[in-house]
Amino acid sequence: MSTNVKRPRLFCDFDGTITRQDVIDVLLETYAQPRWRDVEQEWIDGRISSRDAALGIRIFASHFEFVSGVPKWSFPHAKDCPHGCGTCKPGIIHRLRTPDAVPVVIGDGRSDIFAVDAAYMVYAKGWLQSHCKEQGIPFHPFRSLSDVLAHLSAIYDPAVMRNTV
Ligand SMILES: [Mg+2]
Ligand SMILES: [Zn+2]
Repeated sequence: MSTNVKRPRLFCDFDGTITRQDVIDVLLETYAQPRWRDVEQEWIDGRISSRDAALGIRIFASHFEFVSGVPKWSFPHAKDCPHGCGTCKPGIIHRLRTPDAVPVVIGDGRSDIFAVDAAYMVYAKGWLQSHCKEQGIPFHPFRSLSDVLAHLSAIYDPAVMRNTV
């Protein structure tokens, strides 16, 4: 493989992608009042943005007092985001863009839809697969991150892959 091949720069979602279950869901399921499900349903239905959902959750976050002492949410990676993201993945992708690398997005859910639009290549599972199919967005399906790494190492030379994550 020639040396001018662009490196893949991997952007991997955390909740539901690295973890089997959404960490927030598990915390809320376990500790919060039932009303959080209304907020989540509104988010699933697309009626409110991630940031609003998180703000909605913040209302219930007082129930997390034992976690951090003080319930507090902030959005350090939502600056200049036009989508209403809690963490703006495409914003991060654009900020980290360099001429020698292509953004590869690995994700599973609704929080990844804008990142997908900014991606050169997409690995999708779960809800994100259906979204990509519906929208005609090319993607590689995966079940675990080892599938992704196996696929990536089959198409990229290890020398190109080094220091790309
Ligand atoms: Mg996710
Ligand atoms: Zn955004």
